[in-house]
Amino acid sequence: MKLAVFNAYRIGVVDGEQVYDITQVLPEPLRDWRYGHMNWLIAHWSSMLPAIHAARAAAQPLALASVNLHAPVPNAPHVFAAPANYRKHINELGVRSVSKGRSAREQGFFLKAPGSVVGPHSKIVLPRGSQRRFDHESELAVIIGRAGRDIPRAQAMDYVFGYACLMDLTMRIEPGVAEEERSMRKSFASFTPVGPFLVTADEVPHPDALQNRLWVNGELRQDANTRDMIVDIPEMIELVSSVLALSPGDIIASGTPEGVGPMLPGDTVTIEIERVGRMSLHVIEAAQVAPRAF
Ligand code: MN
Repeated sequence: MKLAVFNAYRIGVVDGEQVYDITQVLPEPLRDWRYGHMNWLIAHWSSMLPAIHAARAAAQPLALASVNLHAPVPNAPHVFAAPANYRKHINELGVRSVSKGRSAREQGFFLKAPGSVVGPHSKIVLPRGSQRRFDHESELAVIIGRAGRDIPRAQAMDYVFGYACLMDLTMRIEPGVAEEERSMRKSFASFTPVGPFLVTADEVPHPDALQNRLWVNGELRQDANTRDMIVDIPEMIELVSSVLALSPGDIIASGTPEGVGPMLPGDTVTIEIERVGRMSLHVIEAAQVAPRAF
């Protein structure tokens, strides 16, 4: 199933070019906590499935083109991310990388602020007037379905709810000049576009064999396969859950392949992951210079 969050944070089932509103399955007290609709639905998925199917069957279809899509998990408790998780990406950034040749296996994970997550209809907003380099990274997002701690990799896939496309956008360091923390550089508002939908795991039987591509203004920049990940999805879940508990709606950004490069205001960045979806976002400059300029 493809799930979308649209308009006033309503939940929809997407089928082709249409969306079916199933928000009515949510309990009444939740209606005021609209950002958390999807978290609740993921946590109660199995027991809610009959009601979801019934609501889907009764709903009038809306044209997908007519709705405003948000990130399919607009309120992720955590956004975990794998650094340097494709062999050919390691070292491609030279001195602008803090990885120093180490992969995700040695580095573990880092965090992106959940507040940096936006949806497919948002814009990528760069700081106004910045001379820094801002890069795109094309990544498969893994959406967690169940709470769990210390999950061995053999059981890890039972904790996956689904997948989405994710752009891990980054302000690069300038060695010797500006070497801010990775979490901050990757947490500007809009630096984690997720979408266009949440595709449930049953529709993606082989997440370890998906083509992952990214274009800037139609020019192919990244083109790789998830089979080339160094730390695969089960090992990533094992790693994160060895540190803290995973929660329903958590996002794991699984790392970028080679081809990372800069984006500028006026560009259009497009990501496509096989079976998961495709989305394009425009890059703009912020309306004003921030009090702390970068
Ligand atoms: Mn990344």
